[in-house]
Amino acid sequence: MGARLAAWASRLAGRGGSSLPGRVALRLAPTVLADVAAEIPGGVVLVTGTNGKTTTAALAAAEVRAAGHRIAHNRSGANLLPGLAFALLEAYRPGAPPDAAVLEADEATVARAAPRLRPRLLVVTNFFRDQLDRYGELATTVGYVRAAVGHLARGGRAVLNADDPQVAQLGEGIEAVYYGIEGPVSVFGPLGDPGDARFCPKCGTELVYTVRHYAHLGRWYCPGCGIRRPTPEIGLAGVGDGGSVLTVRTPGGEWHLPFGLPGVYNLYNAVAAVAAGWAYGLDEATVRRGLASSQAAFGRMEQITYRGRELRLALVKNPTGFNQVLAAVAADPRPKTVVVAINDLDADGRDVSWLWDVDFETLWPRLGAAHWWVTGLRARDMAVRLKYAGCPVDRMTVHDGDPDRGVLAALADGGAEPVYVLPTYTALLTVRRVFERQGAVRPFREG
Ligand SMILES: [Zn+2]
Repeated sequence: MGARLAAWASRLAGRGGSSLPGRVALRLAPTVLADVAAEIPGGVVLVTGTNGKTTTAALAAAEVRAAGHRIAHNRSGANLLPGLAFALLEAYRPGAPPDAAVLEADEATVARAAPRLRPRLLVVTNFFRDQLDRYGELATTVGYVRAAVGHLARGGRAVLNADDPQVAQLGEGIEAVYYGIEGPVSVFGPLGDPGDARFCPKCGTELVYTVRHYAHLGRWYCPGCGIRRPTPEIGLAGVGDGGSVLTVRTPGGEWHLPFGLPGVYNLYNAVAAVAAGWAYGLDEATVRRGLASSQAAFGRMEQITYRGRELRLALVKNPTGFNQVLAAVAADPRPKTVVVAINDLDADGRDVSWLWDVDFETLWPRLGAAHWWVTGLRARDMAVRLKYAGCPVDRMTVHDGDPDRGVLAALADGGAEPVYVLPTYTALLTVRRVFERQGAVRPFREG
């Protein structure tokens, strides 16, 4: 069954990326996800949540691979049902399913994916208010993931962020492994507003935080009904060597792990992936090898050399993510050029008012930006936002319109290096194509 479909899928994959063959496979065999997943001996690890799922899934995939398994993995963030179907079929060899699957699922898709895939582990990163026009209220997103939790494989477990009250609450009454940040690891202290998530998911009382790492993530309890942050089995106890070594407390002792990604948000992704590895049954040495071999996932601070110039490319898509990317940029002490590319197409979210929730007031002076370029379809909104935050107009160039042309103009200008390019989703796709054509980055499959 899987083998025959896999042959079709690989023939189709030459054209049209992963979405077309995935869609065709689902049309030809509507039960393909369930059929192939049932054949996979190591089971399916499913990763979902608002932010960080691509990176977390990439890290967890690297860990499972380090155990010597051949895995299915939707590396490009093709995280809707067709992308999941394609990932499973692509990893199929004649007569042999992959050993295991580590898949990222969109929050709205996970409720439909889980009953088919029956995950051995369901890893949930966090719930942020994100892409409201697409998903509606935060409660709707939480509802999708809650539905998914009901479809774990027999003996399966949820791997939950103890520091996010809404995620932690999913563990009530089920087998869950909790992870969180235990040590003092914040870069600038609390960043961003806790937003909708500051109220108790059970009784609606405003939560109290004794430590807040960013937004609504931290050590919390509810003075109303008494629920509190579960004590994580997997806790990040410390970060050493300039952020490159993580100390993680596990039930099997302290693990010391290498890590190369910047920003507090990536610490959460790392500890989520370590928790997934531990819950999967991997030992310290295997998890260490996996993390050492992993690269930044698509759009998560990619380093690029373009015509001899040093660039860093990082996706920005909501206030929390943007704050964390800016914090990571600030951690680089060199003077630099910063290019922000804001589009407002469907995949970006049509409403750009979220830019007003980004903490530019605190962060722009710390960035060490010699010059700012703002580009994209909503370059002017971004320029107004920066100006309002106090950034002087003479240190800013507005290049209205196509973000790739804006980025090329910034590069041609020959200002300070490195050049940090911070685009929204569709702007990132456009900008990245420029570098792909020059062979500076590898193309990725769109889902
Ligand atoms: Zn409560």
